[in-house]
Amino acid sequence: MAQSMHCYRHPRRETRVSCATCGRPICTECMVQTDVGIKCPDDARLPRGALAGAMKPAQVARTFITGAAVAIFGIPVAYVIFQVGFVTFILSALAGYGAGIFVHRAGGRNGGPLAMAVSGVAVAIAFAPKLVPPLMAGVFPTFVLLPALVAVGFAVYNSR
Ligand SMILES: [Zn+2]
Ligand SMILES: [Zn+2]
Repeated sequence: MAQSMHCYRHPRRETRVSCATCGRPICTECMVQTDVGIKCPDDARLPRGALAGAMKPAQVARTFITGAAVAIFGIPVAYVIFQVGFVTFILSALAGYGAGIFVHRAGGRNGGPLAMAVSGVAVAIAFAPKLVPPLMAGVFPTFVLLPALVAVGFAVYNSR
């Protein structure tokens, strides 16, 4: 006869189910169904990014499509940001923040390296029309590059 296990959260409850991640026994009330099996509430609620690489093909596709959309719509957004002038940094941060959230959601909130790379590249592309001409002219565009980096940073951070 198999040794009986008891829910780690309810020591008096016997169970035959254990968490797919940590292996602790959990009762039917505590167990949480996830894409990767039954988990304890602690592991089912891991911070985002912990499921990195768990994206389904459709979510990967959506991540790329959203990244492309962010790049395309980001170009006029970046243009406007630099027209406004004095709040460039704040607007860049907000734009990157929003872009990161879009990409993160598109990937089913799984995050991970792919979502981070896509959102970072998408935001960089959005700023490229403002960055490339000065570089071509031999001028280092510090006041474009810094807000662009802020935006990329927020985008990557939010899609992790
Ligand atoms: Zn667990
Ligand atoms: Zn329990």
